[in-house]
Amino acid sequence: MNNDQIWEAVLGEIEVNLSRINFNTWFKDTFLDSINDDKVVIGVPSAFVKKWLEEKYHKNILSSLERITEKKINEVIYKVELKKVNNSNEKILGIEKESVPENKKINININKNNTNGKFGLNPKYLFETFIVGKGNELAYAACQAVVKDLGKSYNPLFIYGGVGLGKTHLLQAIGNEIIKQTNKVLYTTSEKFTNNYIQAVHTGKAKEFKNVYRKVDLLLIDDVQFMGGKDGTQEEFFHTFNELQQSDKQIVLTSDRPPKSIPAIEKRLISRFESGMVADVGKPDIETKIAIIETKLKEKNYSLNEEIVNYIANNIKNNIRELEGALNKIIVWHQMRETSPDLKSVKQVLGDYVSNIQTKSLSPKEIIEAVAKFYELNYKELTGVGRKKELVWPRQIAIFLIREELQSSYPGIGEAMGGRDHTTAMHAYNKINKEIKENNNERVKQEVESIKQLINN
Ligand code: ADP
Ligand code: MG
Repeated sequence: MNNDQIWEAVLGEIEVNLSRINFNTWFKDTFLDSINDDKVVIGVPSAFVKKWLEEKYHKNILSSLERITEKKINEVIYKVELKKVNNSNEKILGIEKESVPENKKINININKNNTNGKFGLNPKYLFETFIVGKGNELAYAACQAVVKDLGKSYNPLFIYGGVGLGKTHLLQAIGNEIIKQTNKVLYTTSEKFTNNYIQAVHTGKAKEFKNVYRKVDLLLIDDVQFMGGKDGTQEEFFHTFNELQQSDKQIVLTSDRPPKSIPAIEKRLISRFESGMVADVGKPDIETKIAIIETKLKEKNYSLNEEIVNYIANNIKNNIRELEGALNKIIVWHQMRETSPDLKSVKQVLGDYVSNIQTKSLSPKEIIEAVAKFYELNYKELTGVGRKKELVWPRQIAIFLIREELQSSYPGIGEAMGGRDHTTAMHAYNKINKEIKENNNERVKQEVESIKQLINN
C-alpha cells in the first residue's frame, strides 16, 4: 500500500464519525507525507488545521494509522505544507501568487486547456459511473436535460438532498459533459465563491472577479447552503445569477436542503433558486446500493461474492459515501493480509463501522445540537427561556425529534429542553406530527429529514 492509499483508508475511518462539515474543514488537503519506522509525517494545509488536528483529532488519527498499517507508531508530526499539485492556473485575476496567503489563494480554473481536474472538475464524476435508482432518478433526468439543452431546459437546476447521496457527483457529471463543448465552465463551492469574493474585494479585484463568474456558459455551485451572508457576497451572487440567467447561461446548484429551508439566505435569492427546476436526491434502496457496490468493485478491480455484497448493502444504511468507505476498508484490510474476504472477515472488518453507524447511542443533547446547527442557533438559545419568535419552531422540531428518535417521555423531553413543562412538549410533538402525518407538509418533512442526516453524521 502506498502513502495515499493508507491515508485514504485512515480518512475513510475518521469520516464515519464526523459531520461532513467538520470532516471537510479539518481533513481537506491533508495527506500522508511519509512513514519511517515509527514516525509519521502528515501534511496539512495551514497552521490552524495543524493545531486543531493536534488537539482534537490526534488520538483518532494515531489509532487509525496503527490499525491500518498494523504498526506501533510513536510519533505523528503535522507539518504545514501543500501537496504537490499542478499550480499552473494560479495566476488568475492578476493576483500574484506571492501576494496572497497560501490558504486564501484565488484558484479559478478557467479558460485552461489542461485535462486533469480542469475547471475545478474531478474527471471521475461522470454520468457513466452514476447509478440511477429510485432515490435519484428525478435529479438524474433533470441533469441530463440540462446537458441536452444548456441554459434552456431548466435554469437554474437546484438539486438538494442529504450528505453523500451523489449531489456533487451529478453536478460534476454535468460539468464533465459540457467541457467537451465549451471551456467556459466553472465549478465551485459556495464557500469558495464567498472566500474568493471577499479576497477579490480586499485586493481591489472585484471587477476581475465579476468578469470571471459572469462570462461562463455553465456555472456549477456546490453546497449553496454555505453561501456567506457577509460582505455583500449574496448581493454579488444575486447579480451574477441574474446576468447569467438572463443571457441563457446555465446555472446548477446543490444544497443539503430545499431553497426555502436555507437559513441566512436572502428571500430574493430563494425565489431565484426556485424559478427553474428543483429536484431532490433521497437515500438509495437496496437494489441501487447493490448496483453501486458492484460498479465500485469493478472500478477497483476487486470482487466480493453475492452474500457479502448483500450484507454490505443491508448494513450500510445512510449514504453512498459510507458505502464507499466500507468497501475501501474491506479491500485494504484484506490486501494487507493477503487473504480473500469471506462473510466472517467482512463482518469483522465492518464491525466497528456498522455498529458505529447504527447503534451510536443518541442523547437528547445531540439532537438539540443538530437542531441548533440546522437553524443556526446555539444550544443555549434553544433550551433557554428566551421568547423570541424564531425560537418557537426550532424548539418544537427538537421536541418532535427527541420523541421520535428516543421515544422519551414528555416530562423527560421537557427537562432535556431546559426544564419545560411536559404539556409544552406534548403540544409541540403533536403539532409537528400533525404537519407531517396529516397535512403531509413536504417542507416540514424535508427539514426533519435534513436534521436527521445531521444527527447521523
Ligand atoms: P453529496 O455531494 O451528495 O454529499 P457525493 O456526490 O460526494 O455526495 O457522493 C459521495 C460518493 O458517493 C461519491 O464518491 C460518489 O461518486 C458516490 N455516489 C453517490 N451517488 C452515487 C450513485 N448514484 N452512483 C455511483 N456513485 C455514487
Ligand atoms: Mg457534495
